[in-house]
Amino acid sequence: MIQTDILIIGAGPCGLFTVFEAGLLKLRCHLIDALPQAGGQCSEIYPKKPIYDIPAYPSILAGDLVDKLMEQAAPFQPGFTLGERAESIEKDSEDQFILTTNRGTKHRAPIIAIAGGLGCFEPRKPPVPGLAALEDHGVEYIIKDPELYRGKRVVISGGGDSALDWAIFLADGVASEVTLIHRRQEFRGHLDSVQKAMDMAATGKIQLLTDSEVTEAHGDGALKTLVVKHKTEGELTLETDHWVPLFGLSPKLGPIADWNLNINKNAVEVNTFDYSTNIPGIYAIGDINSYPGKLKLILCGFHEATLMVQSAFKRIYPDKNLVLKYTTVNGINGF
Ligand SMILES: Cc1cc2nc3c(=O)[nH]c(=O)nc-3n(C[C@H](O)[C@H](O)[C@H](O)COP(=O)(O)OP(=O)(O)OC[C@H]3O[C@@H](n4cnc5c(N)ncnc54)[C@H](O)[C@@H]3O)c2cc1C
Repeated sequence: MIQTDILIIGAGPCGLFTVFEAGLLKLRCHLIDALPQAGGQCSEIYPKKPIYDIPAYPSILAGDLVDKLMEQAAPFQPGFTLGERAESIEKDSEDQFILTTNRGTKHRAPIIAIAGGLGCFEPRKPPVPGLAALEDHGVEYIIKDPELYRGKRVVISGGGDSALDWAIFLADGVASEVTLIHRRQEFRGHLDSVQKAMDMAATGKIQLLTDSEVTEAHGDGALKTLVVKHKTEGELTLETDHWVPLFGLSPKLGPIADWNLNINKNAVEVNTFDYSTNIPGIYAIGDINSYPGKLKLILCGFHEATLMVQSAFKRIYPDKNLVLKYTTVNGINGF
């Protein structure tokens, strides 16, 4: 049984920053994440993309932000249960939560902080027969490291920002050939990204196939060809090294949806006073919570984590006085 003060579900940026803020109050944290690594969306979806709205960082790669958050949390020695999904919770006779993962690992804590982001996210996969056998052998649903595509022929499917941004990025000196396929004429992405992709298509840097979709994928152990069907003009066969269908992630709250929390459109309702949920002792911060005016931004999650740990402290130590101390005055006193 893993015992801690605050059990954090989700090791994304908001979960990681919670460790630091809790540590300042001498509260220990343990994080559980279904993914094999920390960092949430930043590590899993866009580690090599620059973020421009982290205070005091005019630009920072999402992966580097995660590294810095890990470094900042390190003095407070967080525990990690990675690659396991938080599955069920119950209360014991001492009013502590017992949380069990899908692999049966048990954790015990007086406070649970749900920082589960989009939930246990699953990429939306196209209904192409035999795709599973080619996954990670030429078919990827997330671009983790653009270097994988250097000098390769890449086909990207999708009409949103991810598809546009990656097509633009890879066509700019990384891949040898980039084809962008979308089943409609119009793209859903930001206007400037759409314009840039169109400009690159006009100069031949991107091969653009609209009103089209991939209907077949073939390869013997590794992807070799795709069959692309145009709405009116029939089929064509493309030889390629990679196919990256970027159809987004389906937001699935997963097991959290069954914990009797008040849920609003796939998110956990909280009181903005302290980001507490309807279950005393359970808080929700970051992308997974919902309240009037909510913005799904990292910096908002950092703020929520900071206020949440104050409330958690008062719940654990109702008789102790909590005085705000600046880090400039007190420094960082790790465990
Ligand atoms: C392409 C892209 C670009 C973005 N750009 C920006 C930007 O420029 N600026 C900005 O502020 N934000 C940006 N965002 C949004 C930002 O990434 C999110 O706001 C942020 O990741 C939310 O952090 P989080 O810690 O709440 O959740 P997440 O990062 O989603 O992490 C949640 C973690 O919880 C885990 N989890 C969920 N349920 C369970 C469970 N039951 N058991 C175990 N683990 C579980 C998940 O596996 C995941 O790792 C962007 C998002 C994307 C996709």
